[in-house]
Parts: sequence; structure tokens; C-alpha cells
Amino acid sequence: MKKLHELGQNFLTDSFVAEKIAEAAGILADDKVWEIGPGTGILTEAILAYKPKLTAFELDGRLIPVLSKMFPDRLQLIHADILKVDWDELTQDAPIKLLSNLPYQITSPLLALIEKHHKSFSTIVLMLQKEVGQRLAAKAGTKAYGAITLRMRLIFDIETLLEVPAELFDPVPKVDSVVLRFTQRACPPPLKNLKMFYRLVQLGFTSRRKTLRNNLKSEFSAEQLQWLEAQSGISLSRRAESLNEAEFITLADLL
Ligand code: SAM
Repeated sequence: MKKLHELGQNFLTDSFVAEKIAEAAGILADDKVWEIGPGTGILTEAILAYKPKLTAFELDGRLIPVLSKMFPDRLQLIHADILKVDWDELTQDAPIKLLSNLPYQITSPLLALIEKHHKSFSTIVLMLQKEVGQRLAAKAGTKAYGAITLRMRLIFDIETLLEVPAELFDPVPKVDSVVLRFTQRACPPPLKNLKMFYRLVQLGFTSRRKTLRNNLKSEFSAEQLQWLEAQSGISLSRRAESLNEAEFITLADLL
């Protein structure tokens, strides 16, 4: 079967890695679990070892009969684009554990959906492009640190579990991968104005080389920014990448 590049079909060839991904989700019998993109079933098999109630979403129609034959009656297989299914409806029976060796081209829209529906997922284990993994796990002050880091980490604790070299996929992709685990933060920080936090983070990183003042002036007057600086004690001559979460929260709550 020809592997479709446009569907991110780089299949994992190492069952040890698949077992590690499944193990990391801490699945118990009858847990509700989603797998995105089961492909030829290497991760599906590892997940099913824990006897969960598994729902798998696969877009490539050619794989549906293959998977049905491999796992008769052992999973609910949905032939659909995960970006187009009704997440409100499907997440009714939360909490759900979500696992995937992600088709890389859907990473951004999928992370946005996960962010929106985060309350439905108790644990998420994803294999992603290493560069995206580095952004999600980045510390303040580093190049990889950005809006996506702050947004996702406001909700989740994110751990890097495993680096997976490109050679363990068929066909071999251009980049290495990492496996990340997302768990809901036990004590999310108090934040009065979530919308403003998102806005500030987005605006702050519009141009990484510019100061916060310069990035924020498209939306706030010079007087407002002067006031903000005085009230917060945070210099707006700094660049966004130097601010930690607490500092962004201070600014957002003042605005
Ligand atoms: N889980 C398998 C593995 O680890 O070898 C396959 C992973 S492969 C990187 C990604 C899989 O996601 C492919 O089977 C592809 O057909 C499927 N896929 C791509 N886009 C999708 C989408 N929007 N919704 C659901 N499945 C998708």
C-alpha cells in the first residue's frame, strides 16, 4: 500500500516505542481512550493490551478494512478526519485518554482543539516532531519559548518522555520525533482574565526581536503602557521571551 505523504503516513516500525507510548498513558481496563491515526495498528495493538474502550479515528479509507480485520470487535473505528468530527459530541463521555503518533501536518490545529477541549482529557501522550516538542517544553529565555509554550502549559504539565530517531519510521522522515505526556495541572495559577492572557501572549510574540512595548503598541496607547509598566514593575523594554508565566499573568490581570 502506497504511503501517503499528505496524510503524514510515517509508520512507526519499533514495537518497543509503541509499548512505551501506551504505557505512559497509565491505561486501566475500561478506560475511555482515543487514538488518532491508527495507521497499520502498531500503537493500537499496544494500547489494546490494557483492555480499554478504544475509539480510533483514521482518515485513510484503505486502512479501515485492514484495521477491522486486525482487531475485530476490539475497538470502535471511525473513518473520519479528526479535525472535522464533532468534538463536543464525542467528548461527552469524558474523561478520555488520548494517544497518537501524530500525522505532523495536523499538529497545530489539533493542539488548538485539545486546548479548547482540555477538560475532557485526563492524560494525553503524543509523538510529535522534535522541534514542536522543544517548543512545548521550552523554558523562558530560550529560543524555543513562545506563545504555544505559554498557552499549553497554562493548562497542562508537559513532560518529554522519549526521543525517537527518524530511522524508526517507514518511510524515514526528515526529522526526529519526541514523545510528550500532557497531564492537567493540579493547581492551575489563578488568572482573572484568560482572554487577555491569550491576547497578550499572542501580541507579545508578534515579532520576537521587538520589545514588549513595540509589540503591544498596536493595541494599547502609550499612556496605557506606561501605566502598565508602573503598576506591574515589569519593564516593557524587555522581550516577550524573557517573561515567565507569572509575569504574563500579572500583566494580563492588570489590563
Ligand atoms: N499510528 C500509526 C503508527 O504509529 O505507525 C500511524 C501513524 S502515522 C504518523 C499518522 C496516521 O494518521 C496515518 O495512518 C494517517 O492516515 C492518519 N491521519 C492523517 N491525517 C488524519 C486526520 N486528519 N484524521 C485522522 N487520521 C489521520
